[in-house]
This record gives sequence, structure tokens and C-alpha cells, in this order.
Amino acid sequence: MAEFDLIARYFTRPTNEAADLGIGDDAALLRVSDGCQLAISADMSVAGTHFFPETPAFDIGWKTMAVNVSDMAAMGALPKWATLSLALPEVDEAWLAQFSRGLFACAERYGVALIGGDTTRGPLNIAINILGEVPVGQALRRDGARVGDDVWVSGPLGSAALWLQARLGKISLSDAEMQGLAPAMHHPQPSVALGLALRGVANSALDLSDGLLADLGHILKASQVGAVLDWARIPRAENLPDTLPLEVLQRAVLAGGDDYALCFTAPVTQRGVIQAMAADLPLPLSLIGSIVAEQGLYVRDGETMLACTATGYNHFGESQP
Ligand code: ADP
Ligand code: MG
Repeated sequence: MAEFDLIARYFTRPTNEAADLGIGDDAALLRVSDGCQLAISADMSVAGTHFFPETPAFDIGWKTMAVNVSDMAAMGALPKWATLSLALPEVDEAWLAQFSRGLFACAERYGVALIGGDTTRGPLNIAINILGEVPVGQALRRDGARVGDDVWVSGPLGSAALWLQARLGKISLSDAEMQGLAPAMHHPQPSVALGLALRGVANSALDLSDGLLADLGHILKASQVGAVLDWARIPRAENLPDTLPLEVLQRAVLAGGDDYALCFTAPVTQRGVIQAMAADLPLPLSLIGSIVAEQGLYVRDGETMLACTATGYNHFGESQP
């Protein structure tokens, strides 16, 4: 199949006026809304590093788009356009059909138009660039946390990490437990509506891709502050076996990756607004700690302080699938 036919068949959909010019020319043409800045981000998925070779193509398509959309959510931006750069070892039409279904299912769910890309032969590698809009000055950056801010997190943490631990044979979970955790791993639901609602409310925000401690650490470093969290308040995966060691659970919740929840800080005066937001969206939003002047990140578990050496996932450290 010629490259041009492949693009036409699997990656060209009506862009419903999302772009002045979409796929098919040397470049796409976009118009940015008045008063808005462009938010641009990139995320790549590589076979063997970001997903297991046997992962269904639909799931790979969904997740690759979702992790990009999540970066827009974390910025308080409205995702609008994406490009797809694809290296394929071979033209496997069954794979491409499912991959494209998953990719567009996520893109359409979040109103993202695919406006271009590149296709080449090579080891399976999927790179998406995403573009969104945010009113000038309203983006949710990492450097805005202030001493006294509450620290909030959306959604339960640790589900994807526990699924991965079990898939790697490091812990043992039943099929039913695995099925309960799998959607978090394969079909993350980026919190775009939350990101938009947090404009003008949150002082800082990011999405959790590498684990709570590592990612919140980026906010602390950029804002030159510290934080104290309360283990008991951190929302976690439910319906897990009683036999799961606490240490495994804590590691998944605090340092596991792939949650794609948002972590944000906001002044104490915004508590009521944020609680109303949780009811409106609806989305579980948990107040898990506060920003302090002394730098460092501490997690209090009752009377004891957890050692926070469990930094987030490191791409050049621990081995991956
Ligand atoms: P060029 O030779 O100028 O790089 P291509 O032949 O690579 O152009 O691409 C032709 C058109 O198809 C361009 O508009 C490009 O953005 C688009 N395109 C190529 N690959 C993809 C893809 N995987 N997904 C979406 N659009 C693509
Ligand atoms: Mg090209």
C-alpha cells in the first residue's frame, strides 16, 4: 500500500473547520482565537518502552493521544489540533485500522482534529504533537505554587502502576482485580474539563505521568517551595486484595506512573470553589496536603513521616516492559 493511500485511509477525517487547511498540503494552516496563546506539547510512544508488544492497537492509539491531551489539560489549555508522526515496521492493515480507531476515538472525545503528520518505515514509534489554546496569561504553570496553598489531586492513584507490577509478575492479582485496573492503564481519561475550570483558581498544576512524588517535585522545584502530604488523604485504587503489602501500595500510589490525574495547588480561600467544581464535573478531587516554605517533600502517615526516597519512575533506571 502506498504511503499516500495509507494516510488517506487511516488518518484523514473531516476536520470540521477546525483548521483552515488540514492534511494533504505541505503544511496545515491554523487560526488562533483572539486573545489566546498556543499551548504546544509532544509525547512519544515507543514499542517496548511505553507499551508491551501484545498491547491491542486500539489501546495504543487511545493512550498515545490521551497522554498528549493530558498535557493540554494540565496547562489549562483547550486541546484543538494534533499531528502524528508514525514509524511502522510494516504495513499491517488490521493493526492500522484498530490503531486509527483508538486514536480517533480519543481525539473525537476531546475535540482534537488530526491536521498532519509524517509516515515512515522503521521500528514502531508513535510521536504526537498537540496544540491547544489558552487565554493569554491564564495557563496553569508549574512555577506558581505559594506557601500556604492546598495541594489537590484528581482521581485515584496507583491503578496503572499496580496493573504493571502484576503484568511484570512482581505481585499477584486475580483476573478480576487486573480487569478493574486495566482501564487506568490502557484508557486514561485526561481531565480537560478540570484544567479549564482551574483557570484563575489554581496557582499551579501538572498531570501525573511519572508518579505523584516526582511530578509534584517539579512544581516544588519550579516554585521554590516544599510540601507536606497526608498519606491517609491520598485517593488510591480500590478493591485491592487485603494481602497486598502496604509498601507495594504506597510505592504504586506515591511513585507509580501513568495516572494522568491532575495535581494542583490553590489558595485555601478556593476550597469551596474547588469542592463545588468536584460536584459539577463530577470528578473526585482530594485535598492531600499543603505547600510549606521549607523545601522538600514529606508524606505524613499518622505519627510517622514516610521516607520520600521513592522518587518517580526513571526512564534510564529501572527496566521496563
Ligand atoms: P511531505 O513529503 O511534504 O513531508 P507527506 O507525503 O509526508 O508530505 O505527507 C502528505 C500529507 O499527509 C501532509 O499533509 C502530512 O501532514 C500528512 N500526513 C503524513 N503522514 C501522516 C500521518 N501519519 N497522520 C496524519 N497526517 C499525515
Ligand atoms: Mg513527510
